[in-house]
Amino acid sequence: MRITTDYVIQFLDTVAARIKEQRAYLTELDSPIGDADHGTNLDRGFSAVVAKLPTVADKDIGTILKTTGMTLVSTVGGSSGPLYGTAFLRAGTVLSDRYDLADEDLVAALEAALAGIMMRGKAQPGEKTMIDTLAPAIDALKSARAGGADLVTAVREATVAAELGMQATIPMLATKGRASYLGERSIGHQDPGATSAYLMITVLGEVVEQIAAKASS
Ligand code: ADP
Ligand code: MG
Repeated sequence: MRITTDYVIQFLDTVAARIKEQRAYLTELDSPIGDADHGTNLDRGFSAVVAKLPTVADKDIGTILKTTGMTLVSTVGGSSGPLYGTAFLRAGTVLSDRYDLADEDLVAALEAALAGIMMRGKAQPGEKTMIDTLAPAIDALKSARAGGADLVTAVREATVAAELGMQATIPMLATKGRASYLGERSIGHQDPGATSAYLMITVLGEVVEQIAAKASS
């Protein structure tokens, strides 16, 4: 599969639209175990990204993603800004000077994004964060690829794993971020960051399906 800059822009625009749509829901999830701002935070950040995109639309994918990361870091108050910001910055660094990507580049960018979040947040899977969606999703993507699946199939499997990972945060005890202040009372609530990460993986899946449909038409 060949992923061009247009599709990267489409991914970012669609993530922004999906977050705007789900803003109230994300904020509601952040009420019992946080400070009720996750949807507002991300909507502010991705709206700023959308406003910036026309200035970099003709640049390489690395520049587009690094601009996205810097915009998130500078506009999102709260821990999710630096965390997602680092993810996009790391992905952009892996894809410097590239105008189109092969399947393996997408996998490498996702791995770098996750490693960036884990480094920045000093967190591991099982701590009730966005990592609990992203880590199993990327593992599923890699094992599907290793088993010979095409990218569409592999991303579908990643989306299923992402959803299970998101749901698995409900019984978890939070040990990182604001939710950890609640101790045992954090148990029984779905993590807002795990939920926004799931939205992003579903949008990635939609874009990959579209590229494949276009290629076969
Ligand atoms: P804040 O917690 O500062 O209000 P947000 O509400 O925007 O920021 O984001 C909260 C989300 O950030 C959590 O649901 C969790 O998924 C994620 N998060 C918080 N701390 C960490 C961390 N150290 N590592 C990974 N993710 C984290
Ligand atoms: Mg919050």
